[in-house]
Amino acid sequence: MANRQPTIFFGHGNPMNAVTSNDYTEAWRRVGRETPRPRAILSISAHWYVPGTAVTISTAPKTIHDFGGFPPELYQVQYSAPGDPALARRVQQLLSPLEVTADDTWGLDHGTWSVLLHVYPEADIPVVQLSIDAAQPAAFHFDIGKQLAPLRDEGILIVGSGNLVHNLRTYAWGRQLQEPYDWAVRFENTAKALMLAGDFEPLVDCEALGADAAISIPTPDHYLPLLYVLGAGQPGESILFPVEGIEGGSISMLAVRVG
Ligand code: ZN
Repeated sequence: MANRQPTIFFGHGNPMNAVTSNDYTEAWRRVGRETPRPRAILSISAHWYVPGTAVTISTAPKTIHDFGGFPPELYQVQYSAPGDPALARRVQQLLSPLEVTADDTWGLDHGTWSVLLHVYPEADIPVVQLSIDAAQPAAFHFDIGKQLAPLRDEGILIVGSGNLVHNLRTYAWGRQLQEPYDWAVRFENTAKALMLAGDFEPLVDCEALGADAAISIPTPDHYLPLLYVLGAGQPGESILFPVEGIEGGSISMLAVRVG
């Protein structure tokens, strides 16, 4: 369908990307220029990983600085995109009978704004966040993506923000020249091949993908946003990787555009 929005997963990496210009942030800006302008954005961020499914209902979601130990300039960043309560209610309707809480305590966390302030620097497109229910298995999140797919025909850009490979234990903080670990490269290549083949189901059961997946995904939070994006995809749609690279050895910055 001509007016169908793509759905995009972003590897967000280090929060400092918000206030930095580098190859990743330049590629994010290119994605914004090359994507048909959406009416609104539904963002699923690794950093709203909580018990239960909730949507932000505020008309003016606050910028949350949900990290510690970074330079003051990062705490001064504001991304003042409006909210979209009508979209939040539409999400509740699509996911019914699942109980989706209308939440006015969260806002936009850095998983969302550190990327969007490059993709849409004008902050003039409404943004709603959907939480990731930490109590649910991977298949639950993939299914939610499927249920949200109709939004793409309503001008909504569904964005997942996490990292395909996210191992902070092995991450070389501040060392730019750390070579990617071989297990990180192998797992990224496996995941890319499955996506290009339209074979998403093995990525839902990622524990079955073996040791490389286990070390690449030590906790599910940064991986699960990808499953929302793949779930919202349709069989046979084009798959692009508009951003690539492994930062600090063990953080994949891969972005995946479906459609
Ligand atoms: Zn993160």
